[in-house]
Amino acid sequence: MDIIKKLEILSEDSQYDLACACGTSKGGQRKKSSDGKWLYPVPLPRGGYSILLKTLLSNACSNDCKYCPLRSDSNIRRCTIKPEETASLFMDYYRKNAIHGVFLSSGVHDTPERTMQLITDTAALIRRNPQARKAFIHLKVIPGCSEAAVEMALKYSNAVSLNIETPGEKHFRGLSSRKDYESDIIRLLKFISRNTGPGTAHPKTKCSTQFIVGASDETDSEIINYTFGIYERLKFKRVYFSAYQQGLGSPDIAGELKFSLSSSEDRLTREHRLYQADFLIRKYAFAKEDMIFSPGGNFSLEKDPKLIWAENHHAFYPVNINTASEENLLRVPGIGPETTLRILKLRKIHWLSNLSEIGLKGKHSVKTAPWIKFN
Ligand code: SF4
Repeated sequence: MDIIKKLEILSEDSQYDLACACGTSKGGQRKKSSDGKWLYPVPLPRGGYSILLKTLLSNACSNDCKYCPLRSDSNIRRCTIKPEETASLFMDYYRKNAIHGVFLSSGVHDTPERTMQLITDTAALIRRNPQARKAFIHLKVIPGCSEAAVEMALKYSNAVSLNIETPGEKHFRGLSSRKDYESDIIRLLKFISRNTGPGTAHPKTKCSTQFIVGASDETDSEIINYTFGIYERLKFKRVYFSAYQQGLGSPDIAGELKFSLSSSEDRLTREHRLYQADFLIRKYAFAKEDMIFSPGGNFSLEKDPKLIWAENHHAFYPVNINTASEENLLRVPGIGPETTLRILKLRKIHWLSNLSEIGLKGKHSVKTAPWIKFN
């Protein structure tokens, strides 16, 4: 199989792993370049997008995670690309300014250690090329590898990620017979945390992780509980959520988990609600006790978590647009960080008297109007 064919297969298969800085909007995760490769738009902190080449280095995997289309018993075309092949393809794109970096992941090719070697050898080849010194490199850490292998990954990367998969061992147990939750995943997440951030050798490395949603019987409340721990204790930059896609996983997963109780659509809505809640944690200063779940422990499928909070705190409203603190403005349904900044700026100049002055029109103003006042 030639390099181009291999890259086509491997970059196509990498779509199942979204734990990187890729957009999470529908259809926003990837786009095809003119020559058919999958490239990934990454939102930049100050707006706009940059592009990453995202690929697996191997779609062969010795593990049997039931939710994953690459598991060892799945009947797919397997291939592995060599470090020098990936590095050379990366440089072709990079020289043309078609991409600003690379996201490298892999199935477990033989052993976690050998797979990490493949990943870090590729990253080293790219990083050592004088033309690519500033390239953005995001590396996936393979569960079960050694701490020395993680150190090598940190040496060559700007960002690393390792999927936590489930909130706790009890939910993971039924999903994989070969990966150990504590020693293969949690141990390495803690190691990454100890070796990144202020005062370490890697103060600027961005760390992220991802949950698979609905492949086990976990609840949103458990996922959110872990999410707080990941931000507060591990100091990770981002947590991602990926709805389990029925049909891609092992056929016996459905029977075991009684999927009749949770449709694919519901799992996608759960993923969306978890991203909304994650946004409230990171950008709106929502605390753990501000997360309101249905009796079963999940977020409402019908309403977003911020609206649910508002409906449970009527005494807090209406919020006075002209006098409220930034924190209180952020609690108003339909008002986000950008609108809040606009309000704070405008009200220094004059007294605000209607929603169109702060840029809220149509359905946005309908959503916000019941929760505010101007006097
Ligand atoms: S380790 Fe599990 S999740 Fe990762 S590629 Fe292999 S089967 Fe898939």
